[in-house]
Amino acid sequence: MPDDHAAPQASRHALIVGAGIGGLATALFLVRAGWRVTLAEREESLHEVGAGLQLSPNATRLLARLGMMADFTDLAVRPQDMVVRRHDGRVLSRPVLGKAAEARFGAPFLVIHRGDLQKVLRQRAEKTPGIEFRLGHKLVDLRETESNVAGIFETASGGMERITADLLIGADGLWSRVRPLSGLPQPSSPQGKTAWRGLIPREAAPIFAREAKVNLWLGPNAHLVHYPVSGGEAVNVVAIIDEDWMEEGWNAPGDPDVLARLFASWGEDARALIAAAPRWNRWALIDRAPESRWSRGRITLIGDAAHAMLPFLAQGASQAIEDGASLAAHLGAAGSGSNLAPALARYDRARISRTARIQSGARAQGRIYHLSGPLAAARDMTLRLLPQNAALDRYSWIYGHDAENLSG
Ligand SMILES: Cc1cc2nc3c(=O)[nH]c(=O)nc-3n(C[C@H](O)[C@H](O)[C@H](O)COP(=O)(O)OP(=O)(O)OC[C@H]3O[C@@H](n4cnc5c(N)ncnc54)[C@H](O)[C@@H]3O)c2cc1C
Repeated sequence: MPDDHAAPQASRHALIVGAGIGGLATALFLVRAGWRVTLAEREESLHEVGAGLQLSPNATRLLARLGMMADFTDLAVRPQDMVVRRHDGRVLSRPVLGKAAEARFGAPFLVIHRGDLQKVLRQRAEKTPGIEFRLGHKLVDLRETESNVAGIFETASGGMERITADLLIGADGLWSRVRPLSGLPQPSSPQGKTAWRGLIPREAAPIFAREAKVNLWLGPNAHLVHYPVSGGEAVNVVAIIDEDWMEEGWNAPGDPDVLARLFASWGEDARALIAAAPRWNRWALIDRAPESRWSRGRITLIGDAAHAMLPFLAQGASQAIEDGASLAAHLGAAGSGSNLAPALARYDRARISRTARIQSGARAQGRIYHLSGPLAAARDMTLRLLPQNAALDRYSWIYGHDAENLSG
């Protein structure tokens, strides 16, 4: 097993496992903080998979500091508002997201295809000196000593490779390998809900769905979210339904007849949208109870590997980006000493409390979204009576947060 990545004493070297959204962003933040990074990813190429993601100001302000906002111009869409409807189409509320929200939080809300976000981050990382990619590297084990940590990888060519660094960061997502190897429990909690994703080319999408808006429809035991992505060239639709089904992965095919039946009593626009999707893929929604630690020795976690969360506050990608910025800020503030433990402990403290609050907020939101009967009627009445921007006021602690502010 060759060891061609031993870290020189002078330069601190992080090995990030997983070149998803969190891993790529963390690499950029760490290089800015003076680290050298190896990004090891099990896929041989970073092909553009997944569907739409929402990035809120708490994440876009961090990407803006990396000088990346111009990279998003042609790919991301800036939604002007969010339209919340009952399943029959009646509008319940319409918080403003455009320039007013940007002025309030100091950074924009964006919606973007996951593949586009990954591409923008990858291209930036490829151009950044100090980041080296090791694609086709699947982490299978790790070894830790007092002075370093090594990831052991199966490579796409069938060999094994050992990469040594000062710090190993598990950015390997929902079904993380690093997590159990660092002694944290792996079993996740399926929530009895699945997300069905369709991507509709712009010209095939109903006109109302092409506008730069985030749309949320609430119905009994299901809800629907849609918004344009890929610079407006496609409409991303996600239907979340109550369903007991569990499989690893993001791309299991879904039977369109199942959705058509489930949404048969919804408003005409909702049904037209569902009928327009050329195919559906589904995945099981999973979250985890918060941990008391993410870091142990020279190993730590970010993103879904650390704090898988339900998507009802649309914070999965934004929190992974926050983790990376916060980790780099804590490591940067600690200077170049070899004892990482105090900085990692501070990172854990800062991030676990915040992400735990978001995890529990997302669970609560999911229950509210899927209400039926009189409770749903009470929810709808409340939404209609609240001030227009009540949702932004309620979650200003999420959107206004600065993960690089170590005193906050
Ligand atoms: C293929 C895919 C499609 C997705 N689609 C959606 C979507 O449509 N909507 C949505 O809300 N969220 C989606 N997600 C999840 C979303 O990207 C994350 O919730 C969020 O961005 C947090 O990112 P993360 O970096 O923690 O994890 P991820 O973005 O999931 O990245 C994890 C990375 O680690 C790699 N990896 C895993 N195991 C190993 C290993 N043993 N060795 C090396 N590398 C490894 C994976 O290949 C992946 O590139 C998707 C994730 C993936 C991987």
